[in-house]
Amino acid sequence: MIDYIIVGFGLAGLSFAEQLEDHKKSFIVYEDGSQLSSRVAGGLYNPVILKRFTSAWKSSEQLKIAVHFYKSLEQKLEESLLIELPVLRRFTSVEEQNLWFEACDKPVLETYLSSELIKNNNKALDIPYHFGGVKYTGRIDVKKMLSLYLRHLEENDRLIKQSFEHTFLEITPDFVVYKGIKARNIVFTEGFGVLNNPLFNYLPLPGNKGEYIIIRSRKLKLRQAVKASIFIIPLGDDLYKIGATYNNNDKTAIITQSAREELERKVQSFMNVDYEIIDQVAGIRPTTRDRKPLLGSHPEYGNVHIFNGLGSRGILAGPYVAEKLYNYIEKKEPLEKEIDCKRFEKLR
Ligand SMILES: Cc1cc2nc3c(=O)[nH]c(=O)nc-3n(C[C@H](O)[C@H](O)[C@H](O)COP(=O)(O)OP(=O)(O)OC[C@H]3O[C@@H](n4cnc5c(N)ncnc54)[C@H](O)[C@@H]3O)c2cc1C
Repeated sequence: MIDYIIVGFGLAGLSFAEQLEDHKKSFIVYEDGSQLSSRVAGGLYNPVILKRFTSAWKSSEQLKIAVHFYKSLEQKLEESLLIELPVLRRFTSVEEQNLWFEACDKPVLETYLSSELIKNNNKALDIPYHFGGVKYTGRIDVKKMLSLYLRHLEENDRLIKQSFEHTFLEITPDFVVYKGIKARNIVFTEGFGVLNNPLFNYLPLPGNKGEYIIIRSRKLKLRQAVKASIFIIPLGDDLYKIGATYNNNDKTAIITQSAREELERKVQSFMNVDYEIIDQVAGIRPTTRDRKPLLGSHPEYGNVHIFNGLGSRGILAGPYVAEKLYNYIEKKEPLEKEIDCKRFEKLR
């Protein structure tokens, strides 16, 4: 008997697998490549909601845990994964600049927002007002991290590259059995794929589609991430991610011409140099109705668990939430009500 089966290996699956490795638990991961949210993510972490100048949920706690988490992973996987990257918020009016100054004085935000206005020195960008700078921000190379970690799992016989078929799962009070594999617990980390999971698809996870274009521009020479109507995220070698879109209606992970046009229109409104589009990617963010993660056990089966709802902030929230779920299952520490999936039990 092993300790855990994990179903799905995006940011949630990886964060939980790392908890299990840290605590020397035995486990196996199923991954079928059906969801792409983590693999296409911009990879930015930033404790501030830049649309409204507010702090994101538990961002200070999450930031500490996440930075430590990704730095330890760099050592374990012997590759660089975390790139410290300043984030500049473009202002569109004097009023917005004033709102920024107000936000700088708020206790939770003063640590993260720089109160000095930053002048644009990059001729490739038309920025009539100033930038506001956010501190303690960066980018994780998520695609690289997931593929290195999958290799690590494969080398340790912990990966099964197959679709998990829920109908074959047998649940008893003390263990679960799936195609001959017996485990004390099962954790579903399927992202938007939870819709196909009959045990948990009653949970409200509407999802939100996001698309990026990846451009090459030799003249842009940008070293910070810029947040305007969309982000420009430097990837190195003159490559930049431009995006992302937010679409609540289309739930396919197929790239679209309309998203490409929207992103080009937005970037051309403040970037004035040539570029070529070299790629476009799409994925469905596992967003919840109340924008909080979904964690906990199935109402009937105490050894069947869910870790989902990372929404648009999986990089910061993933490691924090994984620790909470591990302590809940193994140490019986109660989950905070706002992230416990029990809050939606009435919907069953
Ligand atoms: C365009 C875009 C940009 C984003 N940018 C950022 C960003 O800059 N910063 C940030 O913090 N967040 C960002 N996000 C959000 C972030 O990517 C998500 O919070 C995160 O990916 C959620 O991770 P997850 O593991 O829950 O889901 P997923 O990444 O979807 O992982 C679920 C995994 O489960 C697998 N799976 C599902 N069903 C099965 C099954 N039956 N059998 C086997 N395997 C299965 C899937 O193949 C998948 O690998 C972005 C998202 C998108 C779409």
